[in-house]
Amino acid sequence: MTAYVKIMQRHVQREETLLFQVASPSLRDADGDEIDVAFAVNQEEMASVQAEFRALMSRIGNLAPGPIGLGLTHEAEPAAEGRPGPLLLEIRELSSHYGRIAALRGVNLSIRTGQLVALVGANGAGKTTLLRTISGVQRASGGSVWFGGADIIRLRPDKRVRLGICHVPEGRQVFGPLSVADNLRLGAYTGRDRKCIAEDMERMYAMFPILQQKSRLPAGTLSGGQQQMLAIARALMGRPRLLLLDEPSMGLAPLLVEEIFNAIIELRKQAMTIFLVEQNAHAALAIADHAYVIETGKVVLSGSGKALLTNERVREAYLGI
Ligand code: ATP
Repeated sequence: MTAYVKIMQRHVQREETLLFQVASPSLRDADGDEIDVAFAVNQEEMASVQAEFRALMSRIGNLAPGPIGLGLTHEAEPAAEGRPGPLLLEIRELSSHYGRIAALRGVNLSIRTGQLVALVGANGAGKTTLLRTISGVQRASGGSVWFGGADIIRLRPDKRVRLGICHVPEGRQVFGPLSVADNLRLGAYTGRDRKCIAEDMERMYAMFPILQQKSRLPAGTLSGGQQQMLAIARALMGRPRLLLLDEPSMGLAPLLVEEIFNAIIELRKQAMTIFLVEQNAHAALAIADHAYVIETGKVVLSGSGKALLTNERVREAYLGI
């Protein structure tokens, strides 16, 4: 943690302990909710200010002829393979349990803005749990999740969505009785004006033309592959800063798998930051800037997608070569 973040946290903690004691007797439940919302909004602004500050400091650090302290590295960090944007997500020693079962056991990883990062691993390794812990639908039992420079581990899932984390869960989960167009509109719930939403819908229809053809039909009548496209498009309507994709190709015919991967490649070209979980390890590693391998709740290997494709251990365990 950088020194300035520590100082700010100490300052806020002091304010909380001193002021809160005086104010708490006169606060009602509704006031508590309002404070929660204000914190989430401030955190959003704070996160982007911190990200900007970090990017600036890192640029200054790289211009200097040697190390300049303040916790800055002189060289660009090695995780920047392919796309050296500023750090967007940093997970440290993250653990999560289902009762006594430890699904995550001290996971460390990071994702930079604009990167496509893949996570591969066997069934039950903890991939879905990791995505759920990032979006907040699964509780963490230890560690931290830093997003845009702020620790979001205690934020509720809806507040993480407002910060820009959109999760497309395994198994599509579109709203079956609603039309395709209404499913898309629901993804844009964050209060943008109609014109903006209509423009975003046009973009989605350009990316997935079949959704335009079927825009008035109930989403439940779409094929599996089309529902997956709709689930991804709905998440994109929220203009995410980080898109979490859980097994988007699962259960799809090869032609549709190709279509889904083409869409992911297109999003990568548009510099969308994506964390992709896939059983189809070969395809995922082939398009990823960076990748992690998870085994029984722990990251055991990481590197560029290309490097992992040629790694002996990965080839034997996940590529069947
Ligand atoms: P898959 O590829 O099969 O989806 P995964 O890598 O996504 O697997 P997780 O679903 O995250 O793995 O599961 C990690 C561990 O947590 C496994 O041991 C699994 O049995 C356990 N687990 C997952 N969900 C639950 C649950 N709801 N209750 C209890 N244990 C669970």
